[in-house]
Amino acid sequence: MQPVDRVLELKSELGKRLVILGHHYQRDEVIQVSDFRGDSLKLVFDAVKSREAEYIVFCGVHFMAETAAILAQPGQRVFLPDLDAGCPLADMADLTDVEQVWGQLGEVLDVEDEVTPITYVNSTASLKAFCGRHNGLVCTSSNAEKMLTWAFEQRPYVFFFPDQHLGRNTGKKMGIPLDEMLLWDPKLIRGGFETEAIRDARIFLWRGWCNVHQVFTVEDVIRWRSQEPDVRVIVHPECSMEVVDQADEAGSTSFIIQQIEASPAGSKWTVGTEFNLVNRLDQENPDKQIVLLSSTTASCHDMNLITLQKVERILEGLAAGKSINQITVPADTARDARIALERMLEVSK
Ligand code: SF4
Repeated sequence: MQPVDRVLELKSELGKRLVILGHHYQRDEVIQVSDFRGDSLKLVFDAVKSREAEYIVFCGVHFMAETAAILAQPGQRVFLPDLDAGCPLADMADLTDVEQVWGQLGEVLDVEDEVTPITYVNSTASLKAFCGRHNGLVCTSSNAEKMLTWAFEQRPYVFFFPDQHLGRNTGKKMGIPLDEMLLWDPKLIRGGFETEAIRDARIFLWRGWCNVHQVFTVEDVIRWRSQEPDVRVIVHPECSMEVVDQADEAGSTSFIIQQIEASPAGSKWTVGTEFNLVNRLDQENPDKQIVLLSSTTASCHDMNLITLQKVERILEGLAAGKSINQITVPADTARDARIALERMLEVSK
């Protein structure tokens, strides 16, 4: 029996007790068996709303499954088909390092009263918990501007981690000058900045990036425009500021999908985000020309670790009453992280 047939058989056996979530960056074979497809937070809410679902199989990376475990209803359990599927961006900031920078900022500023920590959802549960404990919140690539706007209504400074590009691109869109967004170097004393520069800043950016979105370059944009003068360039805000500045549009995966789907037949797009999503958009919009912005394959190694065989293994376990690769978050971390996530949801309303 093919893995797809066995997965479908197990799905029907487990019925409403199971939901399979497929992130946009997953392989087609995984998306094919998923009950919901979307970005990380949308998927969490799809799962949590499925009240009868006891088993949430998250086809994505570790921080996504952790977020689902934090927001899960009592009785819901979350599973990740491959425990090695992490996120190099999320792993660029750990709690010890973030607390150290917080302490250094505290030598110049009254951090509790003056600084709002914001973590991109692509981060570990411990960083979400840090934000929960320090009056901060979580943001996504869809709502980063709204969260930063809220933060500046509360306090004069923002400490943004782990993705410098989302922080810088969002700050720039809001009109914050580049010299007021300091890229903190954790190896240097006080990030490499004088007291005055810290006081004059508005955003402190963590030195993190997504290696998939760093593949896209300004040269790619120039090359496509010269080859196809009527092409539209659309990119994710995890791309560098130089690329975002050259693009026609920038936004989250949901935004990219909406813009392309809403465009008229015959439209030409070159897209700066993960390969699996771009490839699927091309297949699902045959009346449009949709290509990857880069000539180098922008493929997320970790997302691609999830295969049908690994999903099948989890489901076989569940059908036999065994928990394989269950993701749990310590209760105190989950409690504080939930505060930061719920604060984001409140501000999003
Ligand atoms: S595409 Fe980038 S941000 Fe997304 S999971 Fe992969 S490494 Fe992390």
